[in-house]
Amino acid sequence: MADVQFADVRKSFGSFPVIKGVNIDIADGEFVILVGPSGCGKSTLLRMLAGLENISEGEIRIGGRVVNTLPPKERDIAMVFQNYALYPHMTVEQNMGFSLMLNKAPKAEAEKRVKYAAGILGLDKLLDRYPRQLSGGQRQRVAMGRAIVRDPEVFLFDEPLSNLDAKLRVAMRAEIKELHQRLKTTTVYVTHDQIEAMTMADKIVVMHDGVVEQVGSPLELYDKPANLFVGGFIGSPAMNMIKGRLDTADGGRFITSDGTALPVSNPPAAAQGRDLVYGLRPEYISLADDGLPGEIIVIEPTGYETHLSLRLGGSDLNCVFRERVTARPGETLRVAIDATHVHLFDAETGRRLT
Ligand code: ATP
Repeated sequence: MADVQFADVRKSFGSFPVIKGVNIDIADGEFVILVGPSGCGKSTLLRMLAGLENISEGEIRIGGRVVNTLPPKERDIAMVFQNYALYPHMTVEQNMGFSLMLNKAPKAEAEKRVKYAAGILGLDKLLDRYPRQLSGGQRQRVAMGRAIVRDPEVFLFDEPLSNLDAKLRVAMRAEIKELHQRLKTTTVYVTHDQIEAMTMADKIVVMHDGVVEQVGSPLELYDKPANLFVGGFIGSPAMNMIKGRLDTADGGRFITSDGTALPVSNPPAAAQGRDLVYGLRPEYISLADDGLPGEIIVIEPTGYETHLSLRLGGSDLNCVFRERVTARPGETLRVAIDATHVHLFDAETGRRLT
């Protein structure tokens, strides 16, 4: 196992910068997820760590060793790709043992490692099958098995679940997490799916346009997003964001651009007298007989919860109620806002005001 560091890493393709000075510290044994929208540079960062892409500036270290110019096979990493990259003409067993054979591992040792990985992944009975005879989830497990047999210092995953259907994705999420709890190998995992990041990571790195926007535990990012981008990216349904300003009369409230007053408790001094964005997660809006009136625009029962879009003043708010609501679009609901869970951001810089 090993720790990993990105120290002021930069990368340009031609004159086009795609990684613009990235610093990330990954502790030994940690499960870190790089997440961000398409094109933000997360795969490029992972490929640089793997040695599949060169580094324009800065340093990448694995276990304290600078690996910038080391070829991939000398980095002691194993990567699981989105498309699995299995050899179609090889059985599961041969696919899993292939890298050991290339490295001229003794046959008995290779067999032992393949059996061990197959046992962990529930592939014991499929060792003689070819990739075409496997389901998507099984292929994904073989790809992981191939990484496990190498017993690397670091596992790298590049969107490994994106080819699976929604249900299987949820199941494999839990499997990968369990695998990490068992092997405790340092893991760097790339996805554009914030739910994957929230549910699996010890630490999340949110990227946007070649820079790191925030690093933290899933709940730190959820509860204290550093800026509008992170607030909007993490959480589903998305955080509501409403423009306006503070009015300090009667103990303080937030006045939206159409004049609606929304509650806010203990606004920071820095929030006074400037254009703001009021960030409110959907679950902090609740039904209340004496609350603000809102018109139902869309109502979506999910079974356990009800998701709504509610027009309040001039804003359509995402709401999540942990109960069943039988009302229809066009009807009015009264809602209360939990003022202690309001986030205020500077409208100009996008930064959280604390
Ligand atoms: P996705 O989720 O779509 O894979 P990503 O966040 O992983 O996106 P990257 O694949 O790292 O993003 O790409 C980052 C940027 O670098 C993009 O603008 C992409 O077009 C550009 N890019 C990636 N590879 C190359 C290349 N070989 N040559 C030129 N530009 C590239």
